[in-house]
Amino acid sequence: MLEELQKNKDDNVTDKPLIGIGLDAAVIPIKGTEVFLLQTCDYFYPIIDDPFLMGKITCANVVSDLFAMGVTKIDSLQLILKNSTRMTEKEINVIVPLLIRGFKAAASKVGCKVQLLSAIENPWCTIGGIATSVCKSNEFIMPENAQLGDAIVLTKALGTQIACSVHHWIDVPEKWCKIKNLVKKEDLDKLLKQASYSMARLNLTAAVLMHKFNAHCCTDVTGFGILGHANNLVQFQKNKNIKFVIEKLPVFQNVDKVAKACNMSKLEKGLCPETSGGLLICMTPENANLFCKEIMELEKEKAWIVGHVAEGNCIAELVPAPEIIQADFNPRLFKEHGDDF
Ligand code: MG
Repeated sequence: MLEELQKNKDDNVTDKPLIGIGLDAAVIPIKGTEVFLLQTCDYFYPIIDDPFLMGKITCANVVSDLFAMGVTKIDSLQLILKNSTRMTEKEINVIVPLLIRGFKAAASKVGCKVQLLSAIENPWCTIGGIATSVCKSNEFIMPENAQLGDAIVLTKALGTQIACSVHHWIDVPEKWCKIKNLVKKEDLDKLLKQASYSMARLNLTAAVLMHKFNAHCCTDVTGFGILGHANNLVQFQKNKNIKFVIEKLPVFQNVDKVAKACNMSKLEKGLCPETSGGLLICMTPENANLFCKEIMELEKEKAWIVGHVAEGNCIAELVPAPEIIQADFNPRLFKEHGDDF
């Protein structure tokens, strides 16, 4: 749809790195200087009922596109907020300050103050932001240097949006009857919390470690699912004779069971949309192992080697019958949010 904007190849002729449409953040060389402006804009609709946590998730989702570029310091963070015209004044007075407070709480972990960009009314509540960083060329990683034989690492489990959807089904009898023999309501409560805390987790540590372990390219997994984003990323590589092979799908506990029972086949096809998902990173197999080990030491969080870079023609593929890995519930994440595990 947006190709028209970049139809003339000459539009992009420059001796400096530049990204227009397609990947996580715009990379714009600033004339007459050696620095670049990296910027991303994202907004979406609230997907959980807790406004404070939703604010945190929104911030984590917005800044993730810069972390995917290896940016570790964010200079400016602007909040985009549109109230629903269907909200009462009381709802607005309670919900909006909590959303803002959650967004600011996550922003403070990035070391960035928040400005409000717009606060107008809209038929639906919409929340998002713009994150900007001014970087020297060694402060970000152009996502274009995947090498044959690289390992592909994923830093968060999959299934965030399924976890949110199926939780609503507890109150919908015709939907609930499809899954009630597989999971208890408490399991779905726990799943929703785990997914929410995962979405609120920043990809900052992963971005810092991308530099330490010489990441060759990276993107974050959001609306197109792991395979969709792997496909985007492989097409941006300088080496046109490689392909990305995904062999494993780490998922939150019970997500694969409920998805199967409800004919939600996108998960096992690697196409299930995620919100504020993990980073998908290519690096040497040795570095990938060290990366996973160090993220566990620093954040007590698992990262997985989910695939590898093979010879091919610029596509990403999922092997038939990929291994489904059940990601354990993480007590540390529950504790961090003041929740008893
Ligand atoms: Mg992205």
